[in-house]
Amino acid sequence: MLPVASTPVPARSAVPTARIEAFLAEERRETPFLVVDCDVVLDRYAELRAAVPSAAIFYAVKANPAPELLDALVHAGSSFDVASPGEIDLALAAGADPAKLSYGNTIKKRTDIARAHELGVRMFAFDAADELAKLTAEAPGSTVFCRVLCDGAGSDWPLSRKFGCDVDQAVELCLRAIDAGHQVGVCFHVGSQQKQPDAYRVAIELVAEQIAAPLAAAGGRLSHLNVGGGFPGTYLTTGPATAVYGAVIERTVVRCFGDDPPVLITEPGRFLAADAGVIETEVVLVARKSLHDEHRWVFLDIGLFGGLAECLGEAIKYPIVTVEGDDGGPKGPVVLAGPTCDSADVLYEEFRYRLPMSLGAGDRLRLLATGAYTTTYAAVAFNGFPPLRTYHLPPSRRA
Ligand SMILES: *Cc1c(COP(=O)(O)O)cnc(C)c1O
Repeated sequence: MLPVASTPVPARSAVPTARIEAFLAEERRETPFLVVDCDVVLDRYAELRAAVPSAAIFYAVKANPAPELLDALVHAGSSFDVASPGEIDLALAAGADPAKLSYGNTIKKRTDIARAHELGVRMFAFDAADELAKLTAEAPGSTVFCRVLCDGAGSDWPLSRKFGCDVDQAVELCLRAIDAGHQVGVCFHVGSQQKQPDAYRVAIELVAEQIAAPLAAAGGRLSHLNVGGGFPGTYLTTGPATAVYGAVIERTVVRCFGDDPPVLITEPGRFLAADAGVIETEVVLVARKSLHDEHRWVFLDIGLFGGLAECLGEAIKYPIVTVEGDDGGPKGPVVLAGPTCDSADVLYEEFRYRLPMSLGAGDRLRLLATGAYTTTYAAVAFNGFPPLRTYHLPPSRRA
């Protein structure tokens, strides 16, 4: 039986693993850098498998495409959500079976579709008639997933508006796809860092009632259901336990589709990678804007352009701990900002972290749960700052 939770189970808190602690204690490495423990990725993979046992897991490569991490997931049996020729190459280089890749980007060049198909990719997403026509021409016989719009309510990093179409168009396009010889699925994304498991219930019900049912009435069948990513990382705000998400998804699928369910897929990115990483950064300057200002500005050697792009709008709030500069004395509010000459490079100003009053230049901080959406969001050399240095600790075991 699946666990049934009536009240949200409190989320775990983010803590560096013993392996990361040992790595950080080895030597004082030049900052900023990210260290990722691939064991945590495998732990999260196992946790999601247990929570949604009937779903195949397609890791969203864009969250962290490091070869060590992809290799660990290939050996664990994972499938992969890829969005570009480059991500396909990375997954294949890690040993992934092309039949276990889903080309989930709804915006693809014709030539890229043809190349993916030639490499053996057989799952593709679309949300427009013209994209479906490209798939029929360049990837005949493949399984095509129509992406439906989701409003992203309850999530900290919504993916609304840009991707997906409404349900009426989805039905129309799915029928067209079946006529063209494809198996059809539906996919959606309830928004990244989704803290409300109920968002999946709402979306699955929408698909069942307003797409699968009219499709069946017209003689078509929904063969796949991809409920996307969205499962949260352990930031200052997070969601309930993974088992709660799993129970909502499994129960809704059973209730909506009975004993003839579509093939179920999840596409976690953040959930698998975020908690595995720790960024170590150094304080460059502590400053005040006026003589009696209570607030200190703390400038770090990493900012919005160095890998912390998800601090835009202060959407994602990483747990921050001090390494040095904490003498056990009082703490006070700070504005946290990056080192570049762009005034947008402020990490947290609305939300006031509290750091030791004794904090000064050269002291180090650690940003926890930074394994997802950091390395690939780092600029190549804005202001001459190099991309984020990374260390990946390979798995200590095989799954
Ligand atoms: C980014 C993305 C994901 C992963 O989302 P998370 O919120 O990180 O789990 C999954 N599917 C698609 C199509 C995506 O673009």
